[in-house]
Amino acid sequence: MQSFTISRPGTLDAATAATAAPDTAFIAGGTDLLQLMKQEVARPTRLVDLDGLLPDAVEVLPDGVRIGALALMANVAAHPEVQRNYRAVSEALLSAASPQIRNMGTIGGNLLQRTRCNYFRDPGFAACNKREPGSGCAAIRGENRLLGVLGTSRACIATHPSDLPVALAALDASLELRGPNGARRTVALADFYRLPGDTPHIETALQPGEVIVAVLVPASAGARRSCYVKLRDRASFEFALVSCAAAVDLQRATIREARLALGGVAPKPWRLPQVEAALQGRPADAGTFADAAMHASEGAQPASQNGFKVKLIQRAVLRALETTAAA
Ligand SMILES: Cc1cc2nc3c(=O)[nH]c(=O)nc-3n(C[C@H](O)[C@H](O)[C@H](O)COP(=O)(O)OP(=O)(O)OC[C@H]3O[C@@H](n4cnc5c(N)ncnc54)[C@H](O)[C@@H]3O)c2cc1C
Ligand code: SF4
Repeated sequence: MQSFTISRPGTLDAATAATAAPDTAFIAGGTDLLQLMKQEVARPTRLVDLDGLLPDAVEVLPDGVRIGALALMANVAAHPEVQRNYRAVSEALLSAASPQIRNMGTIGGNLLQRTRCNYFRDPGFAACNKREPGSGCAAIRGENRLLGVLGTSRACIATHPSDLPVALAALDASLELRGPNGARRTVALADFYRLPGDTPHIETALQPGEVIVAVLVPASAGARRSCYVKLRDRASFEFALVSCAAAVDLQRATIREARLALGGVAPKPWRLPQVEAALQGRPADAGTFADAAMHASEGAQPASQNGFKVKLIQRAVLRALETTAAA
């Protein structure tokens, strides 16, 4: 492991200014970053500890919730307002990792977790365009059962592994960011993650030294009737093969509006506008759900080992719709 220094600046401005320098990284809970450093995938020489510099609570606002970037995954999942009115968020967090990791991992760190593609995580393996731009992609002809079928490119077929952003995408969340010199901006979660194209090493809209301050989740009837379904190889402590967050606004038995996003299948949370359109204004019944779910894997381009995800996507969507209708 590369040796490094760690500092805890007294102000956020000092932290963002320090982290704009090369070979410097923020550290929050450290549950992903330290693993990458031990594997020598990440080699920062200076770490800047965010502890005490960012909000760590859930703030209940008149029109939504503001979740601090340093809030622990476990605390957000257990927050009464999140459990009551933003259920998909609580369920996604509870489905992630283990209780120990959720007690250490933060919301900001979870949004920035790197991919779980084995070729990326082990520099002993062959080429990886995300780890070493221009070196190639060993996964395309190699082990790709767990990798993506939507939004991938010839340069990279990795998925984003976190559960939380999938729920946040379905709930139309946005991120509060702050850069060096105090520059603030708000970015819709839908615009935060980048597709790989020819530059899979560029994953988000974050600029050097910019920090995630908080997540804003708007209140809505759909958020109140939302859920997160995660299909995986074993029942706990496992990443998603396919997951689906659904938020459905029902007026009596008619669907006024539905918002859905997939996880485990794309480099970013994957919204499903074609499924949402097929649900709008229709009765909330088994026939509508089955018809709409058929659209969910449109555009999928499986690799050699993950064709099973095409059908699994449709099943995850169907189960998520049935769950919200029964809530
Ligand atoms: C065995 C195992 C299983 C797991 N299973 C799951 C799972 O099923 N689902 C799931 O979602 N996750 C899973 N995880 C991932 C886990 O949830 C993440 O490691 C955790 O959320 C990261 O949070 P952290 O605070 O520790 O981030 P850190 O490791 O501290 O940071 C991660 C990255 O984010 C950056 N960063 C952190 N905070 C900020 C900020 N506010 N602004 C800008 N940059 C920031 C850091 O510089 C670093 O690059 C698993 C992890 C392990 C080890
Ligand atoms: S899929 Fe992406 S992360 Fe995995 S080896 Fe290919 S380029 Fe690297």
